[in-house]
Amino acid sequence: MGIATSPTLDARVINFIGRTGKILIDGKWSEAASGKTFDTYNPATGEILARVAAGDRIDIDRAVKAARKAFEGPWGRMTSSDRGKLIWKLADLLEQHLEEFATLETLDNGKPLTISRVADVPLAVDLFRYMAGWATKIEGTTIPISVPYAPGAKFLAYTKREPVGVVGQIIPWNFPLLMAAWKLGPALATGNTVVLKPAEQTPLSAIRLGELITEAGFPEGVVNIVPGLGETAGAALSAHPDVDKIAFTGSTEVGRLILQAAAGNLKKVSLELGGKSPNIVFADSDMKAAIGGAASAIFFNHGQCCCAGSRLYIEQSIFDQVVEGVSNQAKKIKVGPGLEPDTQMGPLVSKEQLDRVCGYLESGFSEGAKATAGGKKIGNQGYFVEPTVLVNTDHKMKVVQEEIFGPVVTAIPFKDADSVLPIANDNIYGLAAGIWTKDISKAHRVAEKLRAGTVWINCYNIFDAALPFGGYKQSGWGREMGKDSLELYTEVKAVCTML
Ligand code: ADP
Repeated sequence: MGIATSPTLDARVINFIGRTGKILIDGKWSEAASGKTFDTYNPATGEILARVAAGDRIDIDRAVKAARKAFEGPWGRMTSSDRGKLIWKLADLLEQHLEEFATLETLDNGKPLTISRVADVPLAVDLFRYMAGWATKIEGTTIPISVPYAPGAKFLAYTKREPVGVVGQIIPWNFPLLMAAWKLGPALATGNTVVLKPAEQTPLSAIRLGELITEAGFPEGVVNIVPGLGETAGAALSAHPDVDKIAFTGSTEVGRLILQAAAGNLKKVSLELGGKSPNIVFADSDMKAAIGGAASAIFFNHGQCCCAGSRLYIEQSIFDQVVEGVSNQAKKIKVGPGLEPDTQMGPLVSKEQLDRVCGYLESGFSEGAKATAGGKKIGNQGYFVEPTVLVNTDHKMKVVQEEIFGPVVTAIPFKDADSVLPIANDNIYGLAAGIWTKDISKAHRVAEKLRAGTVWINCYNIFDAALPFGGYKQSGWGREMGKDSLELYTEVKAVCTML
């Protein structure tokens, strides 16, 4: 474990990763019932970074029981104001440990430390604060009812929004801490209890967050954290008969498995899945902004974003200029280990992901695509791949149709808005889309026609705790963040009284 001897790393981080990561159930940390562990790797070197308890069915079962007990006990009795204060306190603690969390995230996921510091951790803090405010604002309505078959009768009818109950949450590795916050924030604000399973590639920040949750004073069992593999711990959580709802972010394939597992007790399901988002540049755009925006739409987080702008459509008359601009930007990106201060793009998260991205590059080249930037992996240590721009691609190619989840963009020319829209929409996904033009009426007309949960106009990858995010079509069910996310975590109860 080379990291343990690094002179530049915070001692708290070295200490934390040197301990075996444990499971948090009912406020106590323990090994897995089986005693098994799994390793998490440093993607910059491929070396083992830390050892973590491998939770499985028995641990999940204990965690669900603890969550049920907390739901029916102290958490259920707590006032919404006190609930909000705890969530706010967690945000404060996280902010105080920003540097530590940023380092953990970079070590485990590979992303540049500069990004973990300004994006991952502060956005998680902000999300918890936003959701803390909602705790006291979960309201129902009073509804005048007529009841035609009860002439003359008088009623008082109202609705309440109540927590769904015990929620299972399964999160991915691309934004490990932020995805934990997106899931925990609304679930806790609305009064649910949680069993959270982080991704096996990146479990460290969620485990450390569990320590802060305990420190903040959440009652035991409100948040249980069970690291483990997807096919064991994840599958057990999604199939568990006493889990009322499962919230998942990850691949569309696994989303389908979750859905099947959830069928047993018909638990509620929300899914945030894959994407293959079109980014459309019109000839009347601010070219400099569009080129910079198109590059960051795909290269941010190494393309490991479900909403990455991976299909770049460029109006014919400016095609060469935009491709050249984006390619030049791609060539200038400094790729390296996330801890190095001048790194702009780190390694991909895992060997599996590197192989997957390289497999897509090979498939593209074999079908006739050409790279105007990048096109191959870098070196033999760690999981680095070049930021890549592909041209000579057509609509039917795998690299244009399938989610690569890496720093690879395909550029395709188009004639006008009417011809680009059917192509932009012809994909199984519908998570996000981008439009670049100075013509505001065209921008909004095109935005209306795009079948996507988020449309960015003259910007890309803008996220806010108040802005709902989620997908049309096979990109998922439900919306995270914003007011809409509260609906995923509440049941509506209609109460009707005859007066
Ligand atoms: P990726 O393919 O990008 O690694 P996944 O969709 O496989 O993304 O993983 C996202 C999350 O889903 C992870 O926490 C993973 O452990 C979990 N997972 C994987 N397989 C299953 C499964 N069969 N049931 C439940 N969760 C799973």
